[in-house]
Amino acid sequence: MTGRADDRPGGGRGDFIRDAVAADLAAGRTAEVATRFPPEPNGYLHIGHAKSICLNFGVAQEFGGFCHLRLDDTNPEKEDRTYTDAIERDMRWLGFTSDGPRAFASDNFAALYDFARYLVARSLAYVDDQSAEEIRAHRGTLTEPGTDSPCRGRTPAENGALFERMRAGEFPAGARVLRARIDMASGNMNLRDPVLYRILHAPHARTGGEWPIYPTYDFAHGQCDALEGVTHSLCTLEFADHRPLYDWLAGHFREYLLSYPKLTPLWRRRKRHASRERELPGAAAPVPRQFEFARLELTHTVLSKRRLAALVESGAVEGWDDPRMPTLAGLRRRGFPPEAIREFCARVGVGKRVGAVEIEALEHCVREALDRSAPRRMAVLRPLKVLIENYPEGRVERLEAANHPRDPGMGAREIPFGREIYIERDDFAMDPPRKFRRLAPGREVRLRYAYFVTCREAVMDESGEVAELRCTYDPETRGGAAPDGRKVRGALHWVSCAHAVDARARLTGRLFAEPAPGPDSRPDPRSLETVEAKLEPALAEAAPGAPLQFERLGYFVRDSGAASGAPVFNRTLTLRDSWAKIQEANAGA
Ligand code: ATP
Ligand code: MG
Repeated sequence: MTGRADDRPGGGRGDFIRDAVAADLAAGRTAEVATRFPPEPNGYLHIGHAKSICLNFGVAQEFGGFCHLRLDDTNPEKEDRTYTDAIERDMRWLGFTSDGPRAFASDNFAALYDFARYLVARSLAYVDDQSAEEIRAHRGTLTEPGTDSPCRGRTPAENGALFERMRAGEFPAGARVLRARIDMASGNMNLRDPVLYRILHAPHARTGGEWPIYPTYDFAHGQCDALEGVTHSLCTLEFADHRPLYDWLAGHFREYLLSYPKLTPLWRRRKRHASRERELPGAAAPVPRQFEFARLELTHTVLSKRRLAALVESGAVEGWDDPRMPTLAGLRRRGFPPEAIREFCARVGVGKRVGAVEIEALEHCVREALDRSAPRRMAVLRPLKVLIENYPEGRVERLEAANHPRDPGMGAREIPFGREIYIERDDFAMDPPRKFRRLAPGREVRLRYAYFVTCREAVMDESGEVAELRCTYDPETRGGAAPDGRKVRGALHWVSCAHAVDARARLTGRLFAEPAPGPDSRPDPRSLETVEAKLEPALAEAAPGAPLQFERLGYFVRDSGAASGAPVFNRTLTLRDSWAKIQEANAGA
């Protein structure tokens, strides 16, 4: 595969990032393309991350390059090994594996520290004794320049000695920081002597107690990009204002690399990446460039790890993989197929325009995928018993039912039919409203794959609720057609009482009722209703995670979390697709 822009086997749609990559290749600014996906291991991946993964891996694939996972582990207090594992698992599930070795920002701690000393030696960084609050207070505003720190004039020798003592762990947390010495009057706040290192006496998941100082995101990020040979560093729009800092650091880092070409940790790291058979980044290596795109926002949910973590911690949801969560683990448990998520990301595309995408668009992609792939089954969620009075007692028929109405390749199964069946409570009405095409006293309907039945009587319980229906069937209508050609208005799903499998169905809905949940919004209490369901026997063997359609009810998936006892099924989505309506409304607006 060559790196030409018209080579887009991944089906990637053109966008400004792909255009820039193509232009860089055409102009010879880079010989190849390398991207990375850099999550912080402080939470589970959500569908916003999926957009970033699809973009980074998609660009690399389309241009014959490389993309790898880098865990941005520079915040030891918030990070956890379980998140690292979950990130890798969820990425794999989505369909992506890292090219080359798994990378951590912490792999480069020694190199970053050495680069920081290089900056100190050239008066490009200094140790500041001010507290975080003082630094913030002296940063100035958008209209006012900042005020120089009293420490800004320290000599390289003084700074070098202090920085070494910071590294040796001599100072308490927060006592000092290392700052770049750029411009306290810059119009860009990020260039007003940004913090590069802070003191933190917190054990790190990988480096243990080795480091009492940790690089900031801005300092670590771009230099990891350079060390790993990343050519195009793709991030979300919030970082656009950081780009001048990214470039400032990248420029000095390049000079640094050229002046210390054999620096051990760097070369070891680069050698590992060179096993991808590309040139070691040396004098000719491109300086990575940052590009920003709009982050994905979705209605009826939140895509911020902080807010998702708060939902988990407060117990508002069952965990990161609660089927209502927009996390990849939650979507998987809910039965969203990975190909539908990839398709959704491709359709959303990559741009600079901010704004929430309707969740109906995602649901539409899921329904499209599941309509093709999900075998049909019958299940009754709110059972109402029906006794077929003229059906012989003790008789059981095995009726054939196609697994998919349009795909004969998916085969068929047999469903037992008997004198007592369950139908959906909603499919009966004592006083049917207009256009009610289901069962009512005296009305005839078709039972799917079985017979026509007519309701003769509704038996009430003491409280006046319908307890049971008495029906008769027409033996001539087996398979669903009447020899006399008469038509019935409705077709109902059903389950034989004698053969029904008991299960719990979780009727998962949208996490928030409001389209744009605010900071005080609470999850919709109706978003996780559980009902006792009756299933056709084939469902006893349903594999966890395999998509299913319960006829007329929606897509479901057997839950993987449930231990022993009755099987649990999560509703992925109902069958009603409202996306087309929304598109029409949007087009008219
Ligand atoms: P959050 O706000 O949820 O904490 P984050 O940006 O802090 O997200 P990271 O772990 O740093 O989370 O993200 C890893 C990568 O995924 C980054 O490159 C980030 O830009 C990208 N990313 C995160 N959220 C989104 C989103 N909603 N849409 C697109 N990309 C995203
Ligand atoms: Mg982040």
